[in-house]
Amino acid sequence: MSPSTPFSALTIAGSDSGGGAGIQADLKAFAAHRVHGLSAIAALTAQNTRGVTAVHVPPLDFLQAQIDACFDDFDIHAVKLGMLANAEVIHLVAGILEQRRPPQVVLDPVMIATSGARLLQDSALQALRERLLPLATLITPNTPEAELLLGRRINNAADADDAADALIGMGASAVLLKGGHLFEGNRVIDRYFDGVTREEFSHARLPVDAHGTGCTLASSIAAQLCCGLSMPNACEAAIDYIARGLQGGYRPGHSEVMVLDHF
Ligand code: PLP
Repeated sequence: MSPSTPFSALTIAGSDSGGGAGIQADLKAFAAHRVHGLSAIAALTAQNTRGVTAVHVPPLDFLQAQIDACFDDFDIHAVKLGMLANAEVIHLVAGILEQRRPPQVVLDPVMIATSGARLLQDSALQALRERLLPLATLITPNTPEAELLLGRRINNAADADDAADALIGMGASAVLLKGGHLFEGNRVIDRYFDGVTREEFSHARLPVDAHGTGCTLASSIAAQLCCGLSMPNACEAAIDYIARGLQGGYRPGHSEVMVLDHF
């Protein structure tokens, strides 16, 4: 690899035909961080800013071929996992990651879109817990996703701290528990914990209905890791990236939903 060749980041996630979330957001974020972006499409959604109208999961052997093609040729430093749709996809992806062992695996446990669409079958939760959490160098749940993973409610700051601890107990190396669904004053607090370091990243709550922020946050973290940042610094830098992206955000469709500007 020549010195000017960046590391590659691979997203294994769902496609958003509306261009705001999923694979499309991930590749824009990778490019904005000057990281070479690779993609393996685990699910296709027919989607716009109003919602999801259809989901198609490609055959497993085709997903495997996409992932193998990437690992066989590129120096993949970080893998970002997004919408994986069902247990069969999760088992396949986990098996490949166990074999290929990329240095970083950032798991965004995508379950339900902001629009309410289900992006992961209920029956896949157990596979996510047992197969993917132990492989994740970071998991980035919002509070509803953490509640489903843990099977308990998160109502306040103490519950959120306990949830971060419990997710480490379930095998993730680090957790960034996003606080957007918790109301702790007019600021949002994202909690980072890796078993040793505990940090709180507080930022202003912007009064906008935004699409694709979770996907972009996880892919921005994966890209920052490719650039050599430590895990807590990568999380902080990615949170800042989202805040700037929202400030320059725009409404590409005919609903009120905004997407991030990537720069
Ligand atoms: N569509 C796809 C393919 C996704 O991966 C995600 C990610 O969470 C979403 C939609 C949901 O995006 P949001 O909840 O930000 O609208």
